[in-house]
Amino acid sequence: MKTSLSCPSYIAKNGAELFGIINSDGQVHYLSESIKIDDDFVDEANKGRKPEERFRFAGKCIEKGCKQWVSETKECGLTQKLVRTFNKSISLENLPNCPIRQKCRWFAQEQELACANCSEVFRNKEAMSF
Ligand code: SF4
Repeated sequence: MKTSLSCPSYIAKNGAELFGIINSDGQVHYLSESIKIDDDFVDEANKGRKPEERFRFAGKCIEKGCKQWVSETKECGLTQKLVRTFNKSISLENLPNCPIRQKCRWFAQEQELACANCSEVFRNKEAMSF
């Protein structure tokens, strides 16, 4: 059976998994375990700056239901763009301890290169233009 993968660039909504906190310098501090969020969390988080600019959430990758999906290659175009644009690298042994790695769409696609460039998705929102 095909296991569904999670999008690590998900929105703050009931049932999403909180897996990281974005530091003031834009780097992600990964939690040791992800936390499923509820409506109360979402309501509180929406009182400040956009929750997606302060936290990282994961949720089910909806593949062709998402505008980032590339039908030809059946891949997430956002990950491809992220890796190509920022081109950072990291060795497998230096990967951050990210709690969603086993099911992360970006990691499944680009392996450690996805993790090396993961923080850049919000640090450089303009360059990513999504
Ligand atoms: S790309 Fe790597 S660091 Fe980013 S969410 Fe996926 S597994 Fe975690």
